This record gives sequence, C-alpha cells and structure tokens, in this order.
Amino acid sequence: MSTGLHIDWESLAASLRAALSVESGLRREEPLATRTTLRVGGAARILAEPASEADLASVLQRTTAAGVPVIMLGRGSNLLVPDSGVDAVVISLGHPAWQRFVPEADGRVRVGAGLRLKNLCGLASKAGLVGFEFLEGIPGNVGGALRMNAGAMGGWMFDVVEEVRVMSRDGAVRTYRKAEMKVDYRHCAELETAIALEAVLRPARVAPGGDEAIRRQIDAYRDKRHQSQPREPSAGCMFKNPPGDSAGRLIDAAGLKGERVGGAEVSTVHANFIINRGGATSADVIALVRRVRERVQGVSGVTLEPEVLLYGGDWRKEL
Ligand SMILES: Cc1cc2nc3c(=O)[nH]c(=O)nc-3n(C[C@H](O)[C@H](O)[C@H](O)COP(=O)(O)OP(=O)(O)OC[C@H]3O[C@@H](n4cnc5c(N)ncnc54)[C@H](O)[C@@H]3O)c2cc1C
Repeated sequence: MSTGLHIDWESLAASLRAALSVESGLRREEPLATRTTLRVGGAARILAEPASEADLASVLQRTTAAGVPVIMLGRGSNLLVPDSGVDAVVISLGHPAWQRFVPEADGRVRVGAGLRLKNLCGLASKAGLVGFEFLEGIPGNVGGALRMNAGAMGGWMFDVVEEVRVMSRDGAVRTYRKAEMKVDYRHCAELETAIALEAVLRPARVAPGGDEAIRRQIDAYRDKRHQSQPREPSAGCMFKNPPGDSAGRLIDAAGLKGERVGGAEVSTVHANFIINRGGATSADVIALVRRVRERVQGVSGVTLEPEVLLYGGDWRKEL
C-alpha cells in the first residue's frame, strides 16, 4: 500500500538507528509474510523492534515528525498484508522486555503487550489463576488481543481486563481503566491510534493448586479447535459474524466451501477460514473475499464485513 508521499526511507532508517539503544532492532524491507499466520504479502519499508519504552517513544516521535505512518504488528494472526507491502514504519513488540507476566498478591496479573496468549494461558494456569482458558488457541499476543478484543468459547479479552497502559503517537504514556475504553465486537477504539504497552488482568478466581483443573479446561478447548478449524495457514475467521448469525454458516449455505482463487481457498473444514494452499498472493485472497461476499449477498442478502484487517490499507477500497 502506497502513501503517495515521497519518503526517504534510508534517511529515516539512519535517523531511527542513531536514536535507538543497541538492544533495539531496525530493519529495512523486512518481509512480513513470515511474520503472519496467513503467510502472504510483501515487506515493511522499515521494521522497528524497540527494546524499551524510551526507544518506542523515540521511534514514534521521529516517525510522526517525518509524517510517516506507523503500524503495530502483533503476531500477525489477524492480518492480510498487501503484495506491495506497507509504506510505513512497522513496530513489533517482539523483544523479551514486552513479555512480562507479573502476578500481584490479590491474583491480578500485569502482562506485557508482547506476551503470547499461549504463554499467558500456561503461566496463569501454573499460578492457579482461573478465567483465561478461553484464550488458548488464539495465536496472537496481548497487544493484538486487546486491539481486536479477541474472543472465543463465550469469553472476550476485555472480560478479564482491568486497565491498559498505552503510549500515544507523541510518546506520552497514560493508563485507561476499562470503563474509559470504547470496546465492542473485535474492536477497541482507543487502540486504533494508541499503542498498548501492558495490561492488568483480573482472573475470575484464584485456585491455589488448581493447575490440573485449569489444564483440563485448556485441553478441552484445544481439542474443540482441532476438530473445527483447518491446519493450513490462515488468519482465522475472515468475516465478522453478522448479528444473530454465523458467517461460516452463510458461506457454507452459499456452496462456497472449497472455492478457490490461485492459492487461496475457502476451507472445507470451516467455511469462514480462507486458507493458503501454498503460493497464495494477497491479490488471490482479496479476489476470493470479493467473490464470497458477492455470493453470500446474492444467496442470503447478508453483506459480510471482513474481520481480518487489510494491513496498512482499507477494505472499502478493495471491495
Ligand atoms: C488459527 C487462528 C485462530 C484464531 N482464532 C481466533 C479466535 O478464536 N478468536 C479471535 O478473536 N481471533 C482469532 N484469531 C484471530 C487473531 O488471532 C486475533 O485477532 C488476535 O487477537 C490477533 O493478535 P495478533 O497479536 O496476531 O495481532 P495482529 O494480527 O498482529 O494485529 C491485529 C491488530 O492489532 C494491532 N496491534 C498489535 N499489537 C498492538 C499493540 N501493542 N497496541 C495496539 N495495537 C496493536 C495491529 O496493528 C492490528 O491492527 C485466530 C487466528 C488464527 C490464525
């Protein structure tokens, strides 16, 4: 996706490198396909991996001053990266400094935005913290799950959130209590611009020594996923469920299971997953998304809206 602006990426990269500590990473033309679960798309003009809040603030301030877009990257499990890549500074909180898991005496736990949900589940289970099991199998990190208000098995991320510490694009840090945030289905308005740094989560209850029961619940959820979701690369559910219905049911009813454009295919296991059969391009996926929407609209009169984000772009221009 092009900004249409002329940006001197080499100079910007040099100025960012000069401002960052040696622990932080900075790369030019970093391929993003391998950093996403769908495994399609081009490169980030610049990828920054700050190792501290001070370095993150430096990247944001310099990039904003240069008028260059900044986009966060979590574990890339809800993204479709355009084939042309993204004309932006992509920021990943992949450094271990962002993966904190710090239980407090009352059972609440402070977690870094870069902590994988899988690790959050495992650590919470060991600490006897009940109530995070539904996150098992969502292949994102805490930051991505907050931004998307990720949900499964009847729970939503914000069910367990008490507060979120964020950095705005000018580098200023503040803390939001949950009640101050506008959160709904797969969306958190504040995190469209602000960057989640860490969150305080509250378990449903603390069960010292309850590790085994928690593990059993996690295993049950994992089995359910294995039976109902494809194994091939995907970005999870492609479309949001329309009110009172399921996108997968509508796509199946339109006879679209197995429908294919290039290397992209509507999964035969779960119709709301578009899988990469190997060698799919972003253009294949977009063409298939268009076809699915048109057919479902024709058969059931429902217009499906993508849940997967078009990274650095706008679906409205593509559909
Ligand atoms: C096999 C599979 C199963 C899935 N199952 C589910 C499911 O059951 N339920 C569900 O809700 N989703 C599911 N998903 C989708 C996806 O895993 C979730 O949306 C997840 O929360 C995305 O997290 P991520 O770290 O990968 O974020 P990314 O996909 O990397 O990014 C998502 C958005 O979050 C933003 N973002 C990332 N980090 C931050 C940050 N620190 N601050 C602010 N914004 C940030 C990004 O800019 C982007 O806008 C599934 C995906 C796959 C591939």
